[in-house]
Order: sequence, then C-alpha cells, then structure tokens
Amino acid sequence: MDTTLRQKLRNMVSGKVLFDEPMSRHTSIGVGGIADAVVWPERSEELSRIIHFLWQFQIPFIPIGNGTNLIVKDGGYKGTVISMLGLNSISLVERGPEQVLLHAGAGATLSEIVLLSEKRSLSGMEFCAGIPGSVGGAVKMNAGAWGNEIKDVVETVGLMIISGEILDSRKDDLKFVYRNLDISEGTIIVDASFLLARGVEEQIHARINEILGKRKNKHPLEYRNAGSIFKNPNGDIPAGRIIDELGLKGIQIGSAKISEKHGNFIVNLGNAKASDIIALIDMIKTKVNKERGIMLQTEVMIVGED
Ligand SMILES: Cc1cc2nc3c(=O)[nH]c(=O)nc-3n(C[C@H](O)[C@H](O)[C@H](O)COP(=O)(O)OP(=O)(O)OC[C@H]3O[C@@H](n4cnc5c(N)ncnc54)[C@H](O)[C@@H]3O)c2cc1C
Repeated sequence: MDTTLRQKLRNMVSGKVLFDEPMSRHTSIGVGGIADAVVWPERSEELSRIIHFLWQFQIPFIPIGNGTNLIVKDGGYKGTVISMLGLNSISLVERGPEQVLLHAGAGATLSEIVLLSEKRSLSGMEFCAGIPGSVGGAVKMNAGAWGNEIKDVVETVGLMIISGEILDSRKDDLKFVYRNLDISEGTIIVDASFLLARGVEEQIHARINEILGKRKNKHPLEYRNAGSIFKNPNGDIPAGRIIDELGLKGIQIGSAKISEKHGNFIVNLGNAKASDIIALIDMIKTKVNKERGIMLQTEVMIVGED
C-alpha cells in the first residue's frame, strides 16, 4: 500500500491504525509476520467506509476478533486486517417473563458476555466460559463446547456486505455447520443477538466454574496456543485422541510442540514461527491419514503469505 493510500486510510479511521504491524501481537499463539495495515473501526459507519475504500483500491482485507483461532503465516498479510474489537457494545432487551435477548457487537468478548449473563442470572452462554474469542469470531467459527454451539443460542446476526449495507439475518436463514458459518468472502459479522433464559444465579455460577475447572485440567493454558488445531472427524471422533493414540504428543519442531496435555493443541514454547506450527500440522495430517485413513481438517484458520 503506497503512502497516499496509507494516509487516506489513516484519515478515515477515528480509532487506531497501525502500518507494518507484526501479527504475532494479535494472535493468541503469538506467530505471524507483518500486515500492511491493521485498523480498529469504532462504529459500523466507519467500517462501511473502510470496506468501500479497500474494495475501491482492490486491497485485500480480513476481519479478525481476538485472534484465538488464527495462524498468520511468517510472510505476513499483504492487505488490511480489520480488528473488530472496537465494535463491542452489549445490551439486554426483555423478551417476556422468561427470556432476555442479549445483543452484542462483533468485538465484544465471550468472557464479557458470560460474566454479564452470570451476573443477571441468564442461562444459555455457560458453555462459552473459557473460550477466549470475540462474538464475531465465535459466530464465524460456530464456536462450541460441551455439546453446545453458538447456533443453539444465536437469534440474529448482523452481516455487513461489500456495499457497506448491514443485513440482519435470522438464524434459520444462515448456514451454520460444525465450526463454521458459511458467509461469502468479504462479508463481516458486525453484531449478533442471543436468546437467553432466566435462570438461577447459583446454578449458572456452578456450571461456569465446573467448565473453567475442566478446561484448566485439560488444556495447556500455561502456553500460548490457538485452541483446537483440527476439527473432530465426523464432528464426534476427538482429533486429540487419535493424535494421542498415534504417540504424537510431545513432538516438537522449532519452538512449536504438540501439547503433552492435549493432543489437539500445539503450543508455542517461546519463539515459534508459523512455519514450525504448520510443519507440525502437516506431519500430523500425513501420519493420521497413513495410519487411520482419515484426512484431518484444520479448525484453526491459516492466512497470509509463506
Ligand atoms: C485456550 C483456547 C481454548 C479454546 N476453546 C475453544 C472451544 O472450546 N470451542 C471453540 O469452538 N473454540 C475454542 N477456541 C478457539 C477460539 O477461541 C474460537 O474459535 C473463537 O470463537 C474465535 O474467536 P476470535 O475472535 O478469536 O476469532 P479470530 O481468531 O480472530 O478469527 C477466527 C476466524 O473468524 C474470522 N472472523 C473473526 N471475526 C469476524 C467477523 N466479525 N466477521 C467475519 N469473520 C470474522 C476470522 O477472519 C478468522 O477466519 C479456543 C481457543 C483457545 C486459545
């Protein structure tokens, strides 16, 4: 992106804009080369202007939330990364005596929502406790745990299309599948609403604590990681168990290691490169295919240049 375009982009964003920014600072696993630009719009009108500008000058872009299911390659991202974390409002609307609609901007975090619903004795989001993503990322990934997924609780999703227009789509009109919401490239989730039920605070609190405890025992939270690397084959055979059975836990390439605690996690021991992680991913895929005849698919999103 030349200096003139950089200046134009700078001028249209009221929030932060960083140029030549290492993406390792914006991914939970801590890898990723330099992105031409990272912008933090704070309002949907601003986002709309940015998208229009990027399309006009044919600059590739990608929306991100908390970067907790994301690997950016070492060659970085030749384009603009749009962080949605600035669009983070949360509000509650009564829906009769038993239900409340929680409306959240794409940049609100699941942890804020879990905390708020716990405080207000609202049940439905407990399964998200400990998932470190944003609302936009969680809807895009149809995040799930303990037998629940985002699609079970979501009611509407606001989608910004290329023209900058926002379409409010109802769940039934959206194509949610296991760990994905099928939306066309360039479409950005700007907000979502979740239908929650009035519950009992102690029960909600107990369930959240139980989930957080299980996560602490099972997941290698002491190291930087990107959550589950692979989708579970057929949605129900745990990829981590297959990796464990094949004796792959603990294998290390560079500073990236297949976690000894959970086979479906790759951890960054300190200075891992994206190429170390991708080499481990390829090695696991080859081994699992050879030994089990299963072609694992990554859950983690891999973007950028080699
Ligand atoms: C310790 C740990 C535990 C985890 N546990 C779970 C779990 O139990 N279940 C689970 O499902 N996941 C889990 N994850 C993965 C991750 O937290 C979720 O997938 C989360 O929902 C991703 O949100 P994010 O904001 O970090 O998305 P990002 O990583 O920023 O983005 C993920 C993908 O979504 C796209 N995206 C992000 N925001 C938008 C938007 N507004 N519009 C359109 N596309 C967008 C990005 O382009 C990218 O392709 C875990 C991760 C970690 C690190």
